[in-house]
This record gives sequence, structure tokens and C-alpha cells, in this order.
Amino acid sequence: MEGGPRLRSLPGGAVTVVGRFLSSKGGRYLAVLAALTSLSSSCSGSRDDVTKECLIPNDQKGTIGGRWTVKPVPLAVIVNDFSAVEMNELRAAIGTWNSFFSASKGFKLFVASGAPLSSVPAGTPKIRTNEACSVSSFVTASGFVQPILIEKIVSGWTHGGSVIAQTGTCPNTVQGQPYRVFSTGVIEMNFENYFAPGLPRPDLQSVILHELGHLLGLGHTCEAQAQKNFLACAEAPKEYLQAVMFPSLGFDGNTGRIKRSLQQNDQQRANCLY
Ligand SMILES: [Zn+2]
Repeated sequence: MEGGPRLRSLPGGAVTVVGRFLSSKGGRYLAVLAALTSLSSSCSGSRDDVTKECLIPNDQKGTIGGRWTVKPVPLAVIVNDFSAVEMNELRAAIGTWNSFFSASKGFKLFVASGAPLSSVPAGTPKIRTNEACSVSSFVTASGFVQPILIEKIVSGWTHGGSVIAQTGTCPNTVQGQPYRVFSTGVIEMNFENYFAPGLPRPDLQSVILHELGHLLGLGHTCEAQAQKNFLACAEAPKEYLQAVMFPSLGFDGNTGRIKRSLQQNDQQRANCLY
């Protein structure tokens, strides 16, 4: 995992992980799926099975960024931001998490009036991940007062050209809660460097499935280089590499590999959060 991520501090004490292309033979490369967290931030047929067990291995104890204490968590896009095809991919990824939580816990985590992805008007300002802790809480005593936006960023991407997407949340320590509690969140998708004609095209459904994992509180399974709370991926068990929450996605040429099913480690950790 050469050329791995570097840490960059952001306002509010949060840390974001960014990365560069990781070159390898045959023109293949990995690109990074990033999380803004509160750190101090072959698969068999069994992959579709639902694990109801809550398990966070000791070497992953620090990989939980926080959680939402109000649910369901509403998600939205800015109207006409994504194409109809892209919207279907977003909905499919949301559906994967919802199906998992339905089977494991009996509820859907992500729902909105637009079931399960609503729209906000054109012109709605795009909050950026580094602003997550400088905007008012999305959650009040009466519930969510605004949805979490999934944003297509077509210019002004600030997280490094190899980062496909970045999720930001604002975690707060709340007495009596086992994990920090999120008050805001946003998902930025890097359409400036990916997805467009002539640019590398990751599998959008796979990418958003990963980012939703961050949004619900999961950090990566490991990081390219060992850091506080994270094993180096080169030293991590195979299941961490197979997980949706592995920090990067491979490409074959300009086509991203597909990772659309939650794996056991993703499910086990998520089961501890909700
Ligand atoms: Zn990520």
C-alpha cells in the first residue's frame, strides 16, 4: 500500500484522510474513499447473508466515528444534480443498507419522504465536508430538520484528485452515549475527477455504499499506512480487505471494480452502532 494516505487536520479538530493514486502494474490503480471522522477520524455466496452479531475486533475498537441517535436518517440530493441512472445507483446502495438493518434490527436506517431519497430545490447551497461542524445541527428534539445531502461536486474538489468521495459528519460527545453522536453530515462525490466521459468511472453504487457506511458511523477497516486506531491494510486480516469499508476501490483500466454487498465485518460493526 505504497503512496498511502496522509492526514490533514481540519477545523474543529476533525481529521480527514486523503490519498493519492496507488500505481501498480497493468495500469491498475486504487483510488481512495475518504472519511471525515471523529478520529482524533472471494467472497463466497455467504456475502449476502445477514449477520446479526455485534462484533468489533480489538484492533478495530477505534474505528467507530459516531452514530445517529435519531432515525430514520433522511437523505436527499439537489434536484437534477444526478442523472436518472445515477439516482438508481444511489437508491440501490441505500436499499442495501436498509435491507441489512431491516433483517438484522427490524428498521430501515435511511428513509426520506422521497422513499428513500428525496430532492431539495436547485440552488440549495452545497455544504462541504469541512463545514460539517460549522453549520447548525440537523437534529433537534423533534427530529431531523433537514436531510443529509449527497452532492455531486463538478468543480472545486478540495480533497485530492485520487479521492472519489468524502463523507463528513460532526460528532459530539454526549454523556451516557456509548459513541459520539452526529449532529450533521454530508457526502461529496468527486465528479470533477471521476465518472464523466473520458475520466475513470468507479462503480457509483459501490462508492455510495461505502460512503453511507461512513455516514452511519463506520470508519475504514484499516488504512494504507498504520495510524492511530487503524491497522495498516497490508497487515490486516483478509476480511478487512474484502469489506465494503476497505479504504480504496480498485480499477481495471478506467472501470471501477464492483463491491455492492455488505460483508461480515461491515455488518458486525454496524450491528454495534444501532
Ligand atoms: Zn472511506
